[in-house]
Amino acid sequence: MDLSFIKRLEEVVGRGGVLYREVDLLVYESDGTLALRGRADAVVFPRSVEEMAKVVELAYSHGVPIVGRGSGTSLSGGAVAAKGGIVISTARMNKIIEVDLANEVAVVQAGVINDWINAYLSRLGYQYPVDLGYQYMADPGSQRVSTIGGNIAHNSGGVKCFKYGVTVNQLRGLTVVIPPGEVRRIGGKEFEQPGYDLIGLVAGSEGTLALVAEAVVRITPLYEATLTILASFKDLYTAGRAVSAVIASGAMPVAMELMDKLAVEAVESGPYAAGLPRDAEAVLLIQVEGSPPGAAAEADKVAKVLREAGAAQVEIVDDPNKAARLWAARKQAFGAMGFVGPNYVVEDGTIPRKRLAEALAIARSAAAKRGLRVANVFHAGDGNLHPLILYDERKPGEREKAIEAGEEILEACVELGGTITGEHGVGYMKKRLLAKMYGEAEIGIMKAIKASFDPKGLLNPGKIFP
Ligand SMILES: Cc1cc2nc3c(=O)[nH]c(=O)nc-3n(C[C@H](O)[C@H](O)[C@H](O)COP(=O)(O)OP(=O)(O)OC[C@H]3O[C@@H](n4cnc5c(N)ncnc54)[C@H](O)[C@@H]3O)c2cc1C
Repeated sequence: MDLSFIKRLEEVVGRGGVLYREVDLLVYESDGTLALRGRADAVVFPRSVEEMAKVVELAYSHGVPIVGRGSGTSLSGGAVAAKGGIVISTARMNKIIEVDLANEVAVVQAGVINDWINAYLSRLGYQYPVDLGYQYMADPGSQRVSTIGGNIAHNSGGVKCFKYGVTVNQLRGLTVVIPPGEVRRIGGKEFEQPGYDLIGLVAGSEGTLALVAEAVVRITPLYEATLTILASFKDLYTAGRAVSAVIASGAMPVAMELMDKLAVEAVESGPYAAGLPRDAEAVLLIQVEGSPPGAAAEADKVAKVLREAGAAQVEIVDDPNKAARLWAARKQAFGAMGFVGPNYVVEDGTIPRKRLAEALAIARSAAAKRGLRVANVFHAGDGNLHPLILYDERKPGEREKAIEAGEEILEACVELGGTITGEHGVGYMKKRLLAKMYGEAEIGIMKAIKASFDPKGLLNPGKIFP
């Protein structure tokens, strides 16, 4: 990229607002996926919607690809500049602009970290429910790192999504920058918008239609009491059935998380051991909330359903310290995989909840036939699987086998009536699989929508489409 273009970018965002030296660009070469690298020509840090629009205008008029970037925790290669060009980072657009309790919304800039919203709101007795983690969970969930702009672009989910929905369900309004550099406001604080659902279109579009500059997000009051229920099962099939039974009972847990035997072995071997039953084939962690008597009644109801559905053991955990340890163990499960294998590939697919047991059996066999093992830790409530396929980087070919097994599992998710991604996006890594879900007609409609926002195809090129 020639220096005169860099200078023009600096005129917009100030000196120090553009990185273009090779050593600085290295940091932006990959995201949470690691498997994909792509060097941008420059990384630009606008401080306002207006600066963001001017940067887009400049790049668009010069035919330069534009990749939005929050914190780079994407697990699908979404934030990587696959075709060069500029990365627009929202790191300096990081203010909570307003909290409006009367309308139950917060107005935030795109670069605000997910967890900052809850840190602010919890003092007011409120929450932003898509917290990509959990109130008890210390780290390393991406809620402490990922931005609201990245969450919107990926339509991210989290542990509480079973009850509260995913990111798109919390959006009331967006301020976006669209090519060739225009600021547009979609929605606001009100509930309903006439016409096509443009907020829904932008949410989950992975930076291919617009750059998100600001968002009006829905906030909800926190409940007074929460209770955790721990259940163990002798087989995965019964655990899967128990999840369906809880949902069909009309109970409304906040979170329902399942860990299989290998995942339990991993966490119980490390510093986050919480006393999870190591002999169980599956463990369910459920949380309910309400007023103190309401939460207690809901916990009793869930426990009864679990027992009737064949759980080997059910415990209502009323000691908050123990509950905190159990949820921290769940949260640390990915990190704890190092205790059972040197490397892993994490996949993300969804299935209809009724087919949980089948999907888990397929995951095991896809790994086993390649001589690999798979651990499962996932959001059982919304059927969002996260198989962790273990492999050893030091053994030639194992990584490729793990990726292959992951793809086989995702293809099976589609055959079972689910999808190739629950919350991590299609990005670069899964674009080949999009054609497993949609025919030419549907992909053609998506491409036409893209062309109407971005006629030159410069927004996050090389992503989503096969
Ligand atoms: C340890 C860990 C735990 C995770 N847990 C969860 C989880 O519980 N739930 C979940 O859903 N995901 C999870 N993820 C995945 C990831 O954190 C989410 O996808 C997150 O929303 C990405 O946010 P980010 O700010 O890092 O975005 P980035 O990775 O920087 O970008 C993600 C995508 O959004 C686009 N983008 C970023 N900002 C903008 C913007 N302002 N306008 C337009 N496009 C933009 C990028 O181009 C890219 O396509 C996890 C990841 C890690 C590493």
